[in-house]
Amino acid sequence: MPDYDFDLFTLGGGSGGVAASRRAGGYGARVALCEDQAVGGTCVHRGCVPKKLLVHGAHFRAEFEDAVGHGWSIAEPGFDWKKLQAGKDRELERLDGVYRRLLHESGVRLIEGRGRVVDAHTVEVNGQRHTARYILVATGSHPFLPQLPGIEHVITSDGALRLPELPRRVAIVGGGYIGVEFAGIFNALGSRVTMFLRGGTVLRGFDDDVRAVLAEEMRKKGIELRTESLLRGIEKQADGSLSVLAGLETLEVDTVLFATGRVPNTKGLGLEEVGVELDERGAVKVDEWSRTRVESIYAVGDVTDRINLTPVAIAEGRAVAETLFHDNPTRMDHTGVASAVFSQPPVGTVGCTEREARSKHGAVDVYVSSFRPMKHVLSGRDERVMLKVIVARESDRVLGIHMVGADAPEIIQGLAVALKCGVTKKQLDATVGIHPTVAEEFVTLRTRRPDPEAERVGDLGHKVAEA
Ligand code: NDP
Repeated sequence: MPDYDFDLFTLGGGSGGVAASRRAGGYGARVALCEDQAVGGTCVHRGCVPKKLLVHGAHFRAEFEDAVGHGWSIAEPGFDWKKLQAGKDRELERLDGVYRRLLHESGVRLIEGRGRVVDAHTVEVNGQRHTARYILVATGSHPFLPQLPGIEHVITSDGALRLPELPRRVAIVGGGYIGVEFAGIFNALGSRVTMFLRGGTVLRGFDDDVRAVLAEEMRKKGIELRTESLLRGIEKQADGSLSVLAGLETLEVDTVLFATGRVPNTKGLGLEEVGVELDERGAVKVDEWSRTRVESIYAVGDVTDRINLTPVAIAEGRAVAETLFHDNPTRMDHTGVASAVFSQPPVGTVGCTEREARSKHGAVDVYVSSFRPMKHVLSGRDERVMLKVIVARESDRVLGIHMVGADAPEIIQGLAVALKCGVTKKQLDATVGIHPTVAEEFVTLRTRRPDPEAERVGDLGHKVAEA
């Protein structure tokens, strides 16, 4: 066998790259990882972690307001954006150190610099070439910006996490995960938020009830949703403010945030030159083992554009390490992956949407409950919780579980285990609830929502009878 410098060379020190490298190092492989920014990647430095710290910070406003109905008197709370930012930055710095230490402890050599694949077994970093038996591409993704006049004046989530001042008026373009999460953060911190959506509502791809309920709750909190809105451009005014030109309307704001999706980081990596295939979005094409068309090159995480979530990238990375260095062939199972949107209120979801369930599984029973949680009896807040369970009629198997409301991500995590284990509606019903909680509603759902298909057939029958 040829003598390589390393057993594994990983490009990218984000969630997937670090997980794969550490697991491989733990199995005794000689591993190197190159990264040209802070270690930890998008999740730690430009995504999940800083975003969640801001979500926590923003949520206190609602807590202060809700406390009043419970007997507390609170003077007008003050808020210091710079202090929140400084706290967040300290934590990110700490995490960079933690990630470096973890790599070191797993015997992974960190090479600071940008890597480029030269051939099936060689990577070049800072002009120096390193050979490896296997190469792992885990270079992640970056925000996508459409071409529009004035696009140079907007920020993406990267900039939104580093704003020196809290903007008074914010326009957000795009209603996906990032758009609704930042809308919640800025709105709760006191900015005036207007969202521009090219479609009819937020969160395309999510269950329709989730989308409708979240949009309604966001509006109740004062976020303006401009739907079916096509942007013509952005203009910078002499006073530094920005004009958003949408259709015939113009809106003056201080900051424009584009949250219009992300694209895989594959440019300049030399991948196509060595035979790795990319799809039309530039993502690395891989098989179920995360292997590219070049036998020695693997890829995991956002760069492969499968399910673009940190825990998925980690699981994909670990599966590669198990397969290559532990004689334990492991394929990542991409089914039943739960996810959460840290909007205000948040969303938790696992399994099929109602639409998917009907198209893939035929007859389904749908249970939906929408209510005002006990906390808001005294707080007086007009915020409802919605939870929904979709069941295959023939097998009784639960196909999808969805929730909008406080703690939805925490609640759905447990239910995701049940769904992964193939839970049936009967088993949910046989579970004794914890009282009084919001989550107990998931095990006490009794009333089936009328079936639209049956109603339609019923209507037709009625018409035929009338005729
Ligand atoms: P999403 O793909 O979730 O949403 C993109 C949004 O931008 C959609 O509303 C889309 O509209 C709109 N859009 C796309 N192109 C244009 C355009 N040219 N003009 C106007 N609107 C446009 O992307 P995000 O940027 O929100 O997030 C990227 C990914 O990051 C997510 O898919 C997710 O995988 C991950 N993420 C996960 C989080 C979590 O787990 N909590 C948090 C943040 C990010 P339309 O619906 O019409 O297509």
